[in-house]
Amino acid sequence: CGIVAAVAPRDITPLLLEGLKRLEYRGYDSCGVAVYQDGTLRRCRGTRRVAQLAESVAQDGLTGFTGIAHTRWATHGKPATHNAHPHFSPHRDKPRLALSHNGIIENHQALRQDLEAAGYRFESQTDTEVIAHLIDHLYEGDLFEAVRLAVGKLTGSYAIAVICREEPHRVVGARQGSPLVIGVGDGAHFLASDAMALAGHTDRIVYLEDGDVADIQLERHWIIDRNGRRIEREVLTVPAFT
Ligand code: GLU
Repeated sequence: CGIVAAVAPRDITPLLLEGLKRLEYRGYDSCGVAVYQDGTLRRCRGTRRVAQLAESVAQDGLTGFTGIAHTRWATHGKPATHNAHPHFSPHRDKPRLALSHNGIIENHQALRQDLEAAGYRFESQTDTEVIAHLIDHLYEGDLFEAVRLAVGKLTGSYAIAVICREEPHRVVGARQGSPLVIGVGDGAHFLASDAMALAGHTDRIVYLEDGDVADIQLERHWIIDRNGRRIEREVLTVPAFT
């Protein structure tokens, strides 16, 4: 339903939670946040309101310079904590990836079977967890490349945001049939399913198009189109929301 992600030279958990609050009006049944913190990925999630999520984030001491957050409107798998995003891969031991997704993956069953055969264990009934494990399976040290390869195997609709323990200053996003924008900050970059989620943090927005895969880091963003070609998309200045 709603995605917010950030890489910045400061703690981004307040920005992520504020962004989720701005997306609350769209409705959701659960929400969550994942951050890179002290060499590991940590998350808080559950079937509750964003205000309660913010309390848990503070209680658990979740902070980070890189993170993703999500409000979920369940399509596959009932509303429950284990189905709430972000999803980890692998989910046991030390997770390498965290991923949030809006949309529906139509070939999730076939992909799930292949990934189970490859040794992945699923903790949720979502179509989303399939994407997380698929990217992990294809990962060879470059998150952007793994996402690019993975989305080529998906049918359906998605906007995704992914972070990786091994590349902590990077968020990779992709879209097909579900909106996703880049927010360009000062020495920071953001991703969101709706520019409104970034109000107060930047008014410089890049609207991604279907088939795009985007890499955001502190000082730069990078986009390839559906043909795998590097592409510059216009940075638009949107009126500041109040
Ligand atoms: N299909 C995914 C799920 O059920 C994402 C739903 C959404 O867009 O929030 O978890």
